[in-house]
Amino acid sequence: MSDSDRIRAQLNARLAQLTTEAKEIDAELREPDSADAEDRAIEQEGDEVLERLGESALKEIAAVRAALKRIEAGTYGSCTVCGEPVGEKRLEAVPYAPRCINCAAG
Ligand SMILES: [Zn+2]
Repeated sequence: MSDSDRIRAQLNARLAQLTTEAKEIDAELREPDSADAEDRAIEQEGDEVLERLGESALKEIAAVRAALKRIEAGTYGSCTVCGEPVGEKRLEAVPYAPRCINCAAG
């Protein structure tokens, strides 16, 4: 298995996991609110937390998809801003990182 195959498999696995998470969050958010006012207040707080989780899952899904496209295009590992290498350690930690440390910091 080549490096890019390995990374692609890793990204696809992460994508599947995130999609499941996003679906679960979505399903929870669609549950009808309780009739009891106190329960409803608690549920609304929970919904806000879920919405934030859902948003971050969707953002990560977009980032993973973008990384898969960069693999296809042969630009994976290059910073999307300056074109310099993103860095092996950075990609090891976050395989879909689009920017090098300098551009990400800026
Ligand atoms: Zn850069």
